[in-house]
Amino acid sequence: MPNKYVYYFGNGKAEGKADMKTLLGGKGANLAEMTNIKLPVPPGFTITTEACNYYYANKKKYPRELKKQVEDALKNIEKDIKLKFGDESNPLLLSVRSGARASMPGMMDTVLNLGLNDKSVKGLIEKTGNERFVYDSYRRFVQMYGDVVMDLKPKDKNQVDPFEEIIEEKKKERKITNDIDFTSEDLKELVKEFKKAIKKETSEDFPDDPMEQLWGAIGAVFRSWMNDRAIVYRKLNNIPVEWGTAVNIQSMVFGNLGETSGTGVAFTRNPSNGENEFYGEYLMNAQGEDVVAGIRTPLPISQLKKAKPKIYKQLELVRKNLEKHYHDMLDIEFTIQEEKLYMLQCRVGKRTGYASVKIAVDMVNEKLIGEKEAVKRVEPEQLNQLLRPIFSTKEKEEAVRDGRLLAKGLNAGPGAASGKVYFNSYDAVNAKARGESVILVRIETSPEDIRGMNASEGILTSRGGMTSHAALVARQMGKVCVAGCGTLEIDYLLKTVKVAGKDHLIKEGDNLSIDGSTGEVIVGKLQAKPSEILQVLIDKTMKPKDSKAYHYYSAFMKWVDKFRRLKIRTNADQPDQCENAVAFGAEGIGLCRTEHMFFGGDRIDAVREMILAYKEEGRRKALDKILPYQRKDFTEIFEVMDGLPVTIRTLDPPLHEFLPHTEIEIHKLARLIGTTVDEITYKLHALEEFNPMLGHRGCRLAISFPEITEMQARAIFEAAAIVQKKGIKVEPEIMIPLISGDREFIAQEKIIRKVADEVMKEKQINIKYKVGTMIEIPRAAIAAGKIAEHAEFFSFGTNDLTQMTFGLSRDDAGSFLPNYLDKEILDRDPFESIDTEGVGVLMKFAVSEGRKVKKDFKIGICGEHGGEPDSIRFCNELGLDYVSCSPFRVPVARLAAARAELTKNTN
Ligand code: PEP
Ligand code: MG
Repeated sequence: MPNKYVYYFGNGKAEGKADMKTLLGGKGANLAEMTNIKLPVPPGFTITTEACNYYYANKKKYPRELKKQVEDALKNIEKDIKLKFGDESNPLLLSVRSGARASMPGMMDTVLNLGLNDKSVKGLIEKTGNERFVYDSYRRFVQMYGDVVMDLKPKDKNQVDPFEEIIEEKKKERKITNDIDFTSEDLKELVKEFKKAIKKETSEDFPDDPMEQLWGAIGAVFRSWMNDRAIVYRKLNNIPVEWGTAVNIQSMVFGNLGETSGTGVAFTRNPSNGENEFYGEYLMNAQGEDVVAGIRTPLPISQLKKAKPKIYKQLELVRKNLEKHYHDMLDIEFTIQEEKLYMLQCRVGKRTGYASVKIAVDMVNEKLIGEKEAVKRVEPEQLNQLLRPIFSTKEKEEAVRDGRLLAKGLNAGPGAASGKVYFNSYDAVNAKARGESVILVRIETSPEDIRGMNASEGILTSRGGMTSHAALVARQMGKVCVAGCGTLEIDYLLKTVKVAGKDHLIKEGDNLSIDGSTGEVIVGKLQAKPSEILQVLIDKTMKPKDSKAYHYYSAFMKWVDKFRRLKIRTNADQPDQCENAVAFGAEGIGLCRTEHMFFGGDRIDAVREMILAYKEEGRRKALDKILPYQRKDFTEIFEVMDGLPVTIRTLDPPLHEFLPHTEIEIHKLARLIGTTVDEITYKLHALEEFNPMLGHRGCRLAISFPEITEMQARAIFEAAAIVQKKGIKVEPEIMIPLISGDREFIAQEKIIRKVADEVMKEKQINIKYKVGTMIEIPRAAIAAGKIAEHAEFFSFGTNDLTQMTFGLSRDDAGSFLPNYLDKEILDRDPFESIDTEGVGVLMKFAVSEGRKVKKDFKIGICGEHGGEPDSIRFCNELGLDYVSCSPFRVPVARLAAARAELTKNTN
C-alpha cells in the first residue's frame, strides 16, 4: 500500500477528522470535521505534515506517491463542484494555505486565486460577468505568487515590495489614492507589469500552467515552515520543528463578487468578557485579507443581523452547531458568496482569563461540558490574570509607541503597578505615609528592605533572578515585581535610574509603571485596574453578591478543589499574609521564614545586640528581648490559621544580613546598645564571608549558637500554649533549614524537644507538634533515608536545591541565565520551573528513600516552584503531600494541582 499523503474533504464527507491534527494540522483537521458535520465547506484536500517532513528529510523532494494523490484529489474537487482547473470557460480556482498542528498566525504563507492565467481569466469573466473582479483577483494572485513562491517578498523593513512600488506608480499616474478606484483596464495593466517585474527580478516567466502554479505553491508553503518568522515563533511557543506543516488546498469562494458577497471572522462567544453572544466583524464585497489588512473598517457582526438577515441566519445556525459539536468557544472564518455562506476555518478560540472561567462555568450550566472538563479548560496562568491588577492595554500600547518603554526585566511578581520612584526602604515608608503610591527601585533587596517593600505597590530590581529575595518576598506579599532588569543603571547617591542609550532620567519622586506579568518598565503613570476578586476576598471593599467575576471564580474553584489530590499551603510570615492566603484557599503554612519577623518594630535592635555579643550570656540576654516579639507573632499566626498546620522554619540567613551597613546606622546602633563604632565595624568585618550563600547560615548558625533555636522553639511552644488555651487547635511543625545529613538534624531536634517538654510542663498542657527538615542541599537528598529515620517530615527547598545542584548562584544567575535560554542551553529557567532531569531526580530519590523508611512520610515543597504549574504537575507525579506557594499564587496552585491530577494518566 502506498503511503497516504492526501486527505480529501467535500460534499459532506471527509477522510480526516478533528482529532487528526498531528497529521493534518489544525486547519486541515477542522475543515474535515466541519465537512463531516455537514457545514458548508468548499471542497478541498490536505497534504499531510508527513509529506512536509519527507520533503525536508529528502533534499526538498516530494514523496513519489504525492503527485498522483494530488491529481486524484483535484479531480474529486472538479467532480464535486463541476468546475475545471485551468478551464477556459468554467475554471476552478484554488486557495493554498499552510496549517500546522498549533496555530502560528501569519507566520507561514498563503496563495489565493491559484489557477488563473490569461485563458481562465476569460472563462471567469464570462461566468461572473464581472471583469473588474476577475482582474482584481488575477493581480492579487500574481502578486501573492510572485512574493511567496518566486521569492520577491521584501526580506527586511528597508526593502520595498516591487509590486507595491508598481501599484504606487500606477496610482500616481492615474491620480487616485485607493486600490478600489482602479478600473479593470488598470488592473489588467498591473498584471502585465507584475509579470514583467517577475521576469526582470528572477529571469523566470510567471508560470501559466495551473499545475505548475499548484506545485510551486505547495513547495512554497512547505518552505515557509523554515522561514525566519516561523522559526522565531516556534522557539517562543515551544513548537518542535518535527511537527511540520500541512498544506490545505481548497476551491476558492469569493467574497468580492459584489454587495451580496463578503467575508468575516467571528468568535462563537465574546472572547474578552465571555458573554454568550456572537462576536466578530465582517466586510461586504471583500476578500479575507481586506479584513485583516485594516484598509477598510469592518463592521460588527451584530449589524449583519439587520443588514443581511438571510445570511445572518445561516451564520447563527453554524455558530450553534459548532458549539454543540465541539463543546467549546470557537473562532471562525467565513466567506459569503452571493448570499451563500461558506466556512473556511474554525478552531478553539483564544480568550482572556476571565472569559475562560466564565465560558467554562456557563458551558457546565448549559450541559455542554462536565465539571472535570471545565477545570481542564482554564490554564492556571489565565486564572492568575483574573486576580491581578492590569494596565489598560490601550494605554500601555500608547506608552510603548511614545517611546516610554524604559527596559524589560523578569516578570517576577505578576500584576500592574504605578507610582513614584524611591530608592530605599526608609524613603519608601515615608512616601507611603504621605499617601503616595511607591515603586521601590533597588539594585537588589535583602531582608532589611522588608518594610520598604511592604510600603510599595511595586518593586523593581536590576539584579537577581526568579528566586532572588526581591522576587520571592514580592510574590509572598502579593506585590508587583520586575526583577533582574540588567539594563537599569541605578545610582543610590544621586537617587536616579537610567538606561544607557535612552534619554529618560528617572529621579526620586518621578512616576514609573511596572508590569510584573510581562517584565516591562514604563516611564510615567499608567492606570491599573484592580481585580474584583481581590476586592471581595482581600480588601473586602465589595460584597460577593455584587461581583459577577467573583461569582464565576467561586463556582469554578469549587470544582477545582473536588479534583485535586495535592494540598495547597502557603509561604507566609505575617498574620495579614496568612489571612490573605486562607482567603485564597490555603490549607496551611508550608514555610514561615522567621527571619522576616526580626525586622518588625524595634526588634531588629535586639537581634543586632544578639549578633554583636561575644559570649553566650550576652546572646541569651538579647534573645530574651526577642522572645516576646516572636511569641506574639506566632500567637497571631496560629490564631489566623485556626487549626490548620503551620510549618515554622528556624533562622536561616547569614547573620551579616541583619547588621547595619551605613555610617549613620552604625553610629545609631552603637549608641543604642552601648558599644563603640569600632566594635561594630570590627564585627561586621568578622562576619563578612566570601560566599555567604554557602557559608554560616541555616542550621549551621544554630549548631554554633544553639540558644537561637532554643529561643525560637520556646516562642513557638509558648504561643501554641496560649492559643490552645483559648480553644483553638494548633499543631506546629518545626523545620530545620539547610541540613546536609542526619547529625545536624539530630542535634537541633534534641534542643527543640527539650524546650517543648519544658514549656509543656511549665504550662501544664500537651502540645502536638512535629520536627522535620528542609531538603535543600543535594547531600541531604542523597542521605534522605538516614534523615527520615529521625525527621517527621521533609519539605523540599527547591530554591537552594536548584542553586546547589547546578552550582548556580540564585542571586547572580540573572546576569547570564537569559543568555543560556536564548542559546537553548537550557529550556527553562530552573529557578522558575523544576529541572526534572537533575533537581527532579534528586527529589524523586529523596521521596523514595524517605518513604522506604516511613511508608506515609509527609513530604512537601516550599521552594518558589511550589506555585508554578509544571512543577506542581511534577510534584503531583512524585506523590508529594502538598505544595506551598506565596498567598497570591494559592488559587493558581489549586487549579494546577487539579489539572495535574485530572490529566495524570493521559499525558
Ligand atoms: C528554598 O531554598 O527553596 C527555600 C524555601 O528557602 P529560602 O528560599 O528561604 O532559602
Ligand atoms: Mg533555602
